[in-house]
Amino acid sequence: MTLSRRDFLKIGGASCIVAGTGAALAGCAPAGGADGPLAETGDAALVGYEPVNFREEVDVLIIGSGYAGLAAAMAPALAGKSIAIIEKQGQIGGDSATSCCFMFANGTELQQAAGNPVTIDEYWEASAERLSAGWDEYPWFGDWVKGKTYANTRFVDSAINDFGAKFQEPCTEAELPRLYGSVILPADGIGSGGPNILQPIAAKLKELGVDIRCGLRATALIEDGEGAVVGCRFENPLSGKLVDIKARATVLATGGFADNGEMVAEHLPEWANRAQLVHGCIGEGHRMAEAAGARMFGMDSSLERCNLMGDIPNCTTWGYWTPVVLVLPNGKRFIEEAQSHDAAQAALDAGYTQWWSIFDDRAFKARAIAHSVEGNIKSRQDVYVKADTLDDLAAGMDVPADTLKATFARYDELVAAGEDADFGKEAWLDSLQPPYHALKLNVCRYKTSGGVMVGPNNQVLDGEDNEIPGLYAAGAVALQSFASISACMATGYYVGETLAAL
Ligand SMILES: Cc1cc2nc3c(=O)[nH]c(=O)nc-3n(C[C@H](O)[C@H](O)[C@H](O)COP(=O)(O)OP(=O)(O)OC[C@H]3O[C@@H](n4cnc5c(N)ncnc54)[C@H](O)[C@@H]3O)c2cc1C
Repeated sequence: MTLSRRDFLKIGGASCIVAGTGAALAGCAPAGGADGPLAETGDAALVGYEPVNFREEVDVLIIGSGYAGLAAAMAPALAGKSIAIIEKQGQIGGDSATSCCFMFANGTELQQAAGNPVTIDEYWEASAERLSAGWDEYPWFGDWVKGKTYANTRFVDSAINDFGAKFQEPCTEAELPRLYGSVILPADGIGSGGPNILQPIAAKLKELGVDIRCGLRATALIEDGEGAVVGCRFENPLSGKLVDIKARATVLATGGFADNGEMVAEHLPEWANRAQLVHGCIGEGHRMAEAAGARMFGMDSSLERCNLMGDIPNCTTWGYWTPVVLVLPNGKRFIEEAQSHDAAQAALDAGYTQWWSIFDDRAFKARAIAHSVEGNIKSRQDVYVKADTLDDLAAGMDVPADTLKATFARYDELVAAGEDADFGKEAWLDSLQPPYHALKLNVCRYKTSGGVMVGPNNQVLDGEDNEIPGLYAAGAVALQSFASISACMATGYYVGETLAAL
């Protein structure tokens, strides 16, 4: 269901902006349309809706506890603000907790200590034009994106220095030939952000007095008579109990909408029938913001910022750090392997919904991925094959042995020539050595991009591109994160810096 205008429940001076999440919409519209009732309303009240009743008040109210939500709390917590982070699920973390955590940063103390001399100023100077491009109608965008880019660096520094997060020493160029310099990882490599980054930050936030509460779902933003957002209504889905929290600033950090079939069908119809990997990101923040008058941006694939994935996401990244050969169920190679985002769509384009990732023992030794290789093989024995010969590998994978052997013969030829004339692979263009290992992946959706746009002060923009007072956003619900984990962290941290100064 899409709301094209605001629906108000006028109650006691403050209004609930009904989002249609956890609340029935029937009967919410005033009888006379948006301009007011045609008939006297008297004591009329909407069935099922309680009047706004603030029982708590904080400086900063953050909805959602993924990286964006936690990052938004960091600077205000250090500045002594009162903060509540409210999470609808039974535990914190959202999609962030299961993310591969393939992150980008520049000029961090971590990178400089590892001998990477690039400063954030140098990085910005080299990238400003590219990062600012495409938003000319917003004259403030260049300054905003500069602030976010620097916030990315400050997030990593603060996460380590102030919040005890643990990152891995950045990879050398030999370890990571493609994208060397900008990629950083949690301490135990790909897929280990939960224990190394998310949990330490949450623990320190609690120590600083942040109220992190699970099991409460935001159902409606609350605004004052002037149109400023002044808090949010939450519902305990088990007891039905309502909690209205007043706040000077309310931050939407509610993630994407990949788990909402209806929204995916509307905005990304080509993905509607794809399996999906995530649970809980159903676009509630998008809808609450839309009900508050926010304009929605880029939720379709037009900006080409989101992608399909394999259902063993860590595995899709390994080609950056080790030789991998990707083949379709017909045994044929179909794409260059030192990437993570493109294989699923390429498999679909070739007429398949599955593909195999084949690697050798080196994958178990590469420190950036070793934990995830062990872990994924252990948890996905159902789709794991190990073999000493290509014949046995083909039999285990149930692909035509002759085709697989021809694929490997051709790949070895390209390796010998030093050039991948078929798919342009440059990093880790090496032959695989037995024993061979293979995992089968299924195409699925796992993240979305697009949603609200935040303005120069990190407040959500309305339909006329004015900032909605009191309403902030970060992470996958916000266009400018483009659903990249480091941008989710950075947009969260940037909002937090704004709020620390309030
Ligand atoms: C398996 C996987 C691997 C990924 N790997 C990478 C990667 O390596 N690199 C990369 O750049 N990106 C990756 N991504 C994408 C990236 O992880 C996400 O875009 C990012 O984690 C989103 O962070 P977030 O804080 O915005 O949202 P989330 O982490 O989803 O957090 C949002 C939180 O808000 C809560 N919430 C939602 N609605 C409400 C409500 N109404 N009331 C209260 N709480 C609510 C949710 O329960 C959730 O906990 C991956 C995603 C997945 C699923």
